[in-house]
Amino acid sequence: MESPKIYHSTYPAPYCATNISLSQFLTDYNPDAVTRDKVILEDDWSGRSLTYGSLRSKAAEHAWSLRERYGLKAGDMVAISAPNSVDHILLIHSVLWTGATIALMNFLSTEADFFHYFTICKPKLVAIDPSLHDMTVRALKRVPSLGRVDIISLGGPHPDLVNYPSAFENKRRLPIFDLSLGDNRNHTAAICFSSGTSGNPKGVELSHYNLIASLGGIRSTDPAFYNSESRCVFFAPLCHIYGLNTVGLMGIWLGAYTMLMKKYDLNELLKLSTSCKANTLRIVPSIALAMTKALTLNTHDLSSIKFIMCSGASLQQDVIKSLQKKFNQAPIFQGYGMTETNIATLRSHEWDRVGSVGRLFANIEARIVDDNLKDVEEGQDGEMLVRGPTVFRRYLNNPAATSETFHNGWMRTGDVLHFDSEGFLYLTDRKKELIKYKGFQVAPSELEGILTSHPLVDEGVVCATWDHNEGTEIPMAYVTLSNVVPADPGARQKAIVEIQQFVNGKVSPYKKLRGGVEILQEIPKTASGKILRRLLPARLARGQQAK
Ligand code: AMP
Repeated sequence: MESPKIYHSTYPAPYCATNISLSQFLTDYNPDAVTRDKVILEDDWSGRSLTYGSLRSKAAEHAWSLRERYGLKAGDMVAISAPNSVDHILLIHSVLWTGATIALMNFLSTEADFFHYFTICKPKLVAIDPSLHDMTVRALKRVPSLGRVDIISLGGPHPDLVNYPSAFENKRRLPIFDLSLGDNRNHTAAICFSSGTSGNPKGVELSHYNLIASLGGIRSTDPAFYNSESRCVFFAPLCHIYGLNTVGLMGIWLGAYTMLMKKYDLNELLKLSTSCKANTLRIVPSIALAMTKALTLNTHDLSSIKFIMCSGASLQQDVIKSLQKKFNQAPIFQGYGMTETNIATLRSHEWDRVGSVGRLFANIEARIVDDNLKDVEEGQDGEMLVRGPTVFRRYLNNPAATSETFHNGWMRTGDVLHFDSEGFLYLTDRKKELIKYKGFQVAPSELEGILTSHPLVDEGVVCATWDHNEGTEIPMAYVTLSNVVPADPGARQKAIVEIQQFVNGKVSPYKKLRGGVEILQEIPKTASGKILRRLLPARLARGQQAK
């Protein structure tokens, strides 16, 4: 058997200890010697703030209350769904302090989404924004295997719910979750939901080890960017690994300053970045594009911005250029990663490698393979496999999906890339079915299930098409109509509108079929009946665009 061609990172690998919990790591290591009274978190809406020291001491106090009221301990699951806030981050750290696991659910979820998440993660406690109360109760009732589940309110009072944080204030402090005699690779700290390379969203188990390794790896790759001097206004949801990792954990570890936005608004983001003298912008490509078009950009004094980090989807070259012009040539870093790799996979620093998504992060090894999982020659396109301490443990309660994703210890990314001779990677296509709408994951299989339940649809398939105005992928559907639909164009057009409204009415806002519905005579398939997504018109157009 030929030995695999393994590519290694050129960044120094940080030490990854296995006998420490995430809370111990965040409390024991203060790499930039930040003082306890430094304000590190503020809300843009509630007036709440926390210092480096108070986040830690309050987490210990609230952990005591969580243990006292609900018996929370290692092995228990707390599902959380709320907009960004200081208290959201505080609750995450309070739960981690008890040793229990956090499961982060998108605030824009539907009842069906909640039902799916609760079925997977079986929470003991659920913390939600009060507006989600009725939906949460209904979704929990539908999961038969769940016993008693307590619900608390996060982000404002609700008449039927215990309020976080006011009802959790305590003079006593719970001892920190201690793994000094344990193995942090076997303890899951966080669950984020991701559809991975196929199917519906699954619970990605991120161990204490994974998360600590990711923090160390990012710092080691980018010490000039990730340090306590960083000041940032952040809007991306904490439920996504991007938010959890960079703000919920990294910012807390380093004692950097973050202003949390409850709801994204471009003008507000620019205004707040000016008023709090932000030196860092953390954005996604669709917002980078919106910034290049924003006429109001010049009315804000954004001279404090020294770094721009853009992650989560592909960033077009022309957007990079015009953004740099607007921000006084501030360097724009691009990050590539996945929920399953704890984001930290590739990073580009040098923009002279036009079109590259960067080099391997510290700690990451990669291979590029063909459809038979055989290594290809350097420079050739293939699926990237990765390995390293940041790669997730497994999909929660889903051994089949876990074994499909790992191949001899290597994780399949479902993304198609090639290396150049200097170790820069270029992303050219996606093999997996995932659609990324403005950084949010949309799983085609989920929409296809709804699509094909419509009586006018015979067969249906969902894929990504590109929205040039918004600078993002959007979901679109191809269908064959059932023979109850008359052949005349008017009736077919009416059917399309009805089908699109039907799907859009059942999904959360970011999953809507913004790319529309188109009729095909036949859905392209293999002889065995598997859909040939590559032959769908929108996929063909994307392939040409990538070249
Ligand atoms: P998620 O798990 O939601 O972070 O989605 C991961 C997927 O987003 C990756 O497998 C890629 O397909 C895509 N992605 C992430 N970062 C980038 C990037 N910088 N450029 C292009 N696609 C990206």
